[in-house]
Order: sequence, then structure tokens, then C-alpha cells
Amino acid sequence: MIELRTPAELEGLRAAGRFVADVLDELLETVDVGVNLLDLDRVAARLIADRGAVSCYVDYHPSFGNSPFGRNLCTSVNDAALHGLPHDRVLVDGDLVSLDFAASVDGWVADSAVTVQVGTARDEDQRLIGTVERALAAGIEQFRPGNKLGDVSYAIGRVAKDAGFAVNTQFGGHGVGRTMHGEPHVPNDGRPGRGLKLRPGLVVAIEPWLMQGTDELVQDEDGWTLKSVDGSRAAHVEHTVAVTDTGPEVLTLRRAQRADTTD
Ligand code: MG
Repeated sequence: MIELRTPAELEGLRAAGRFVADVLDELLETVDVGVNLLDLDRVAARLIADRGAVSCYVDYHPSFGNSPFGRNLCTSVNDAALHGLPHDRVLVDGDLVSLDFAASVDGWVADSAVTVQVGTARDEDQRLIGTVERALAAGIEQFRPGNKLGDVSYAIGRVAKDAGFAVNTQFGGHGVGRTMHGEPHVPNDGRPGRGLKLRPGLVVAIEPWLMQGTDELVQDEDGWTLKSVDGSRAAHVEHTVAVTDTGPEVLTLRRAQRADTTD
């Protein structure tokens, strides 16, 4: 069922979005050469506890999982694209890591992801991150009253394909509200003018992700982490966004992004 949020409900989602953004900001400050993925998970756990929030991941146990996820965020490193289970692994110079975090605050959920380079940047990783960020921005720009969901998907896919990347439409964005995953599904490619008509109060996570050499995934032996089939690197970014009367409102802007929009 597609649910539209009232202004009062949107306030709850804004608070959740701000918390999720603040956690990602703190994680981004923590990421460095020599930091263990489990340290990042502990930072997320501490911030969740301090806020009295609830992790969307710890008890997450979909039908394909052998057991609950058990960690507080996804850390997908290098050829891991999505759902990276934090392991006892230290970040090294040149790693490419995506942090995907969702939490429930006073019963409302927000979901966001960011990808960063660790230590020395690589040009090809920078290009991948730049493309996926432009795809996210293009999708958000179309998330406004009167448009169709297909306009959002098409905009994302066009940026990715114009840059030479293949797009996997199996995993994409999703409705967000009381729970982390609701309707509608928001594929990362589609046909303009098709699909759900966008109305104020619709809230979804938009989350393009790309791999440098393929659009095919393979599941890691940990049962969660999805990696590129060819070993090429991946990047993933995500915001929770609401349709308002005047256009898209991004609920999970991080500090630097909030500064950008108030200039
Ligand atoms: Mg997410």
C-alpha cells in the first residue's frame, strides 16, 4: 500500500532524517586508514543508544537471510556493492567504502547512504562516486508533484548509462515510513511518464548504486554482502526524500549538504 504522510507525520520523518544524517556525519569523521569496520558499527550503536532510537538492521531478518543481520549499519568495501555486513576488517589506504544506515526515531524511519574513499583517492573511484551522486541528484529533482515515478527512475538511469555504466534494477529505492522497506519500489532505471503519480506526502528512499564493470551481483559467503561478479568496485548513495507541494524535500541532508542549500 502506498501511504501519503500528513504534515504532522512529516515532522516525525524529518527528525528521523536529521538523526540518520548526523550519524553518517559522525561515521564519515571516523572513517580512516586503520579503522576497523566493527569500530564503525560500534559508533552507530552508541549513537542509536544515546538518542533512544531503534536500529532497523540489528533484527532485520528477511526470508533470504539465515539469521538476523546483527549489526547497526552496512559497510560495503571495494567490490561489495550492497548490504555489506561489517566484519573484523581494518580499512586500508585506497579502500572505497559505502556506509548505509537506517534507524527508527519515535516510530519514524529514515534511510541514507554515502560512499567515500579512504586515504589516497583514485580517479576511477572519484568518477564512480561522482556519477552515482549525480544520478541521485537527478532522481531527486524529478520527485515532485505531477511527475510519475518513472520520471525519477529514468533520470537516474540516464545519468548512469550516459556515463557508460550498466544499471541493475533488481535492488533500488523503496517507500519509507513506519518501517524501512515499503511500497513503492523505486528502480534505478525506467520509462518516463510511467508508473505511480507523485503526490505531496509520498516519502521514499532513492538509492542509485553502480559497479565499475558489471551490473551483476554475487552473494558473499557471509550470507549478506552483495559483491560485483567481476570484482570491480561499487558505489552507493541514498537519501530519504518527501514530495511536498513545492518540490522534493531531502530529509537526510548531511551537514555539508545542508550548508550547500542555505547559501
Ligand atoms: Mg539504506
